[in-house]
Amino acid sequence: MPQIHILPERVANQIAAGEVVERPAAVIKELVENSLDAGATRIEVEFRQGGRELLRVEDNGCGMSRDDALLALERHATSKIAETADLDRLTTFGFRGEALPSIASVSRFTLQTRARNSDVGTEILVDGGRQVHVRDCGRPVGTSVEAARLFHPVPARRKFLKTDATEAAHLVQCVRLYALACPGVAFTLIGDGRVVFRSPQCATLSERVGEIFGAQMAERLLPIEAEEPGLRLSGLIGRPGEGRSTRHELMTFVNGRPVESRALNFALLESYRDSLPEGRYPRAILFLACDPADVDVNVHPAKREVRFRREQQVRGFVIRCVLARIRELGGAADPGIAPASAEALAKAELTGLGEPASAYGLPAPAPPVGSPGEEGPAAPQRVPADGEGRVRAWRFLGTAHDLYALFETPSGIVLLDRRAAHERIWFERLRGQFAAGRVPGQRLLLPVPLELEPVSAAILMDSRAFIEAHGFEIAEFGSNFFRIEAAPQWMEPADAGSFIRDVLGELRDGKLSPGNLDLARDELARLAASRAVRLPAAAGASEMESLASQLFATESPLASPAGRPTFIEIDRAELARRFQRK
Ligand code: ADP
Ligand code: MG
Repeated sequence: MPQIHILPERVANQIAAGEVVERPAAVIKELVENSLDAGATRIEVEFRQGGRELLRVEDNGCGMSRDDALLALERHATSKIAETADLDRLTTFGFRGEALPSIASVSRFTLQTRARNSDVGTEILVDGGRQVHVRDCGRPVGTSVEAARLFHPVPARRKFLKTDATEAAHLVQCVRLYALACPGVAFTLIGDGRVVFRSPQCATLSERVGEIFGAQMAERLLPIEAEEPGLRLSGLIGRPGEGRSTRHELMTFVNGRPVESRALNFALLESYRDSLPEGRYPRAILFLACDPADVDVNVHPAKREVRFRREQQVRGFVIRCVLARIRELGGAADPGIAPASAEALAKAELTGLGEPASAYGLPAPAPPVGSPGEEGPAAPQRVPADGEGRVRAWRFLGTAHDLYALFETPSGIVLLDRRAAHERIWFERLRGQFAAGRVPGQRLLLPVPLELEPVSAAILMDSRAFIEAHGFEIAEFGSNFFRIEAAPQWMEPADAGSFIRDVLGELRDGKLSPGNLDLARDELARLAASRAVRLPAAAGASEMESLASQLFATESPLASPAGRPTFIEIDRAELARRFQRK
């Protein structure tokens, strides 16, 4: 018979820690919530090495007496609820009484605190769940909690941590969310000795957004405010047409708590469906207030997810409000819409080719070919090695919809996708420049200012050498402020800022990684090619024939860098068959 026994407190805490604090950002979340619950008006957060070396949160809240501080380190010790029913009228972030003992069981943990009515503070040091000392300390009223060498008592957990940069990105995002949730509290975030952001107490959400994301973002977002019996929505939303390639700028809060809510995410995506191109995410900082009894925050150990009792009603309400606001904004002409319509155009081109072709029974587009010696599908015999000679026999007939050039060829007819062809040509030209390390640059008469949020700024600093090796010169002035002083010749200076933002986005998502230089150059050339092409409205026979011969001078003329076919061919036999000629 197995022997049953109760786990020692320390082991139980370490196990609980696995759920409550699975990574450094989760520790910070718990500590910041405690500071806010303690009524702090100033909170300072510090981390070192992605939080694995040090995490520290200091506040000017109510502090604790020595007895309370000792009690706070016991499991299920909380000052915030007394009975289950209290969960339905929560006004605090915390309620489980699990965070402090969990964190103290998996780190070298120092708590310093002083209550308002006491003239000496208490310091408690706990190492891996074992109390080392309790003694007097001097400190202002408030609390400071430090967790050093996180997870060192549980090495298995330490292995699950991602790179310092990734953990730091989570930490920054986490503190940002609470800073947005509580604009009236001053926040400072310090990472590896550098101030990531510092915001004084703010009167409004918009002011806070300006402080932590920069004035550019604050200007682009628009206020929204709406109410129905039992539900209230407020916050800031992005303009129609201004989406992002990731969800990082979609932030939702329920009753003041930053949360992930499928209902809210769904409602936002749905609201923007017609005003953003597919695959783009809206930007929003959205606060929903409702009766605490109608929302369950106790579904996730880290309180990150919430569930609504009346999910349909919440969804419907949010969609109605956001849609109404988008419609109002749609009326106001907005220069920010231009890039989106360019995207819409590119999208139209993408769909313009494949679908109708198959609908009319045209042959499947030729597959891309690799250069000789490379693995890959063999070139169909219709494309002779001597492409140029062959293209000389193509006769340009005209352009359809500005997108497709029609040629008569000795063996049939060809429809060339102008954009795909240009992109292929640009891609190989730029890739050649990148590989040779010679990217002609241009000094900008008017340097382009670039204000980035902290994570992007850190990525830019990390990848500056890579970016500058490709024709840019970027100067840093002030934290998170940069100036593009030179850009490669292939681009319009006006596009430099948005190109750099795209590159930073791909670096952040790992699509672009300077670690493997060859792959990185290819990806950068792909991105650049899609930006470099500006189709002239209409073009004559000589331009089109030269486009075709330039295309066939490339290594892989059959496909665009993104893998779209550059042309489709219908041979005479197929034409004869379709017209039922004998
Ligand atoms: P919970 O927040 O769920 O109550 P915690 O383990 O996070 O549980 O904290 C336990 C208790 O310690 C809290 O209920 C609160 O009374 C006290 N406490 C924790 N952090 C602070 C702080 N920064 N300032 C004042 N009191 C605090
Ligand atoms: Mg807590």
